[in-house]
Amino acid sequence: MLLESERVLLVEYGKKLITNRLTTGTGGNLSIFNRDERLIAITPTGLSYFNTEPDDIVVLQLGGEIVEGKRDPSSELPMHRFFYHHREDINSLVHVHSRYATTLSCLRWELPAVHYLVAFAGDKVKCAQYATFGSEELARNTFEAMKDSKAVLLANHGLLAGGKDLPTAFAITEEIEFCAEIYYHSKCIGDPVILPDSEMDIVAEKLKRYIRKNRITEI
Ligand SMILES: [Zn+2]
Repeated sequence: MLLESERVLLVEYGKKLITNRLTTGTGGNLSIFNRDERLIAITPTGLSYFNTEPDDIVVLQLGGEIVEGKRDPSSELPMHRFFYHHREDINSLVHVHSRYATTLSCLRWELPAVHYLVAFAGDKVKCAQYATFGSEELARNTFEAMKDSKAVLLANHGLLAGGKDLPTAFAITEEIEFCAEIYYHSKCIGDPVILPDSEMDIVAEKLKRYIRKNRITEI
């Protein structure tokens, strides 16, 4: 079986999307790009995460040709391919319909540096222009809005995060959803103070050192 360890990780983290309340039903998708093999492993379309087994994962070439798989790949495959083609720093993507990030995306707001943990993604998380799910246009819009960042909101849709590996992409997803929730709550009762870019630069460096020292993952 091709990319067996990647398949096992995708199955494990797919379940975490549901148990950590980051998405509902079959919403969202995950993938890993093995740069040495030049192959993508991605979750299938329309299958519950708790019913997904390693052999349900679809393995494709960067060009989109299926190499191994009995199911259709996620409908957001164009978005995953586009990033792996153009972003050398990203080898895994997590896409979810999490409640608070999606709420902001429906307002077409960006997520500013309301909490220092926004630094997991960058100075802020922008909102990409709307395009229909699964379209090439959505892939381009998302890529454009995620330049200089590790996460992006998809207008009227959800959240996308990317990292050097799946645990990293998942950690960014969790932290950005947490920050979106905090932004929502603070906007409900007042006018949150946003951290300046200069402070976010300091936080980003410190966060990198902390993560490296504790061997959590790397951003
Ligand atoms: Zn989606």
